[in-house]
Amino acid sequence: MATTAANLDDTYRHKGLRKALLDKLRGMGIADERVLDAMDRVPRHHFMDDAFVHFAYDNKAFRIGAGQTISHPYTVARQTELLRLPAGAKVLEIGTGSGYQCAVLVAMGYKVHSIERQKDLYDRTTPFLKKLGYRASCYYGDGYKGKTAFAPFDGILVTCGAPFIPEALLGQLAVGGRLIIPLDDPEAGEGKQTMTEVRRMDETTFTRQTHGAFAFVPMLTARSGAAG
Ligand code: SAH
Repeated sequence: MATTAANLDDTYRHKGLRKALLDKLRGMGIADERVLDAMDRVPRHHFMDDAFVHFAYDNKAFRIGAGQTISHPYTVARQTELLRLPAGAKVLEIGTGSGYQCAVLVAMGYKVHSIERQKDLYDRTTPFLKKLGYRASCYYGDGYKGKTAFAPFDGILVTCGAPFIPEALLGQLAVGGRLIIPLDDPEAGEGKQTMTEVRRMDETTFTRQTHGAFAFVPMLTARSGAAG
């Protein structure tokens, strides 16, 4: 299993590389400066195995152990931007993974709840986020079920490729809130997903919009891994 960064320095070199990455993200169309500012304040290299630290500010996904990856910076930026929420909003993340996306959501000023399906990742990332000072409520559980006890959420962000929209997540969305979910889609390409935004207009009406092709690790179902 990969270890999370042991060295928690944030040097001028790291800061410089981060600025360059943010400029690249701007060039790729990320327009919400709040998102770029949040990403500027979260050292991505802290969430990666020391072996990959030198590549932390490339726009790439990397392995984080347990067969999972830390999402591309562009993906993190785009999903965060699509939530379109003010500071103070309550957000549910599905797939804590390395904790990087979670930390960016905390840096946005959101009240963050995050669910991870793999016990070893949950066990590693929960204390790590705390150690770095990111206050989020982390749970070991099944993202398909969401988190009824803390619903409704102003935003729900799914960070693994889902075969369909989980009904429970729609039910836990506040009116006006958005679910941002990458959905398996053969038209997006082999093993890719279409980024989908579902907005709850009222109790029973939901609208859907799509935002291009992305690549995620699969959202595990009850039969494909540990218990929820
Ligand atoms: N947000 C993470 C991305 C990690 S990759 C980051 O910034 O690093 C996606 C994560 O979703 C993996 O950790 C995987 O274990 C988790 N996952 C997959 N299926 C899940 C499910 N049904 N419920 C919750 N988490 C799930």
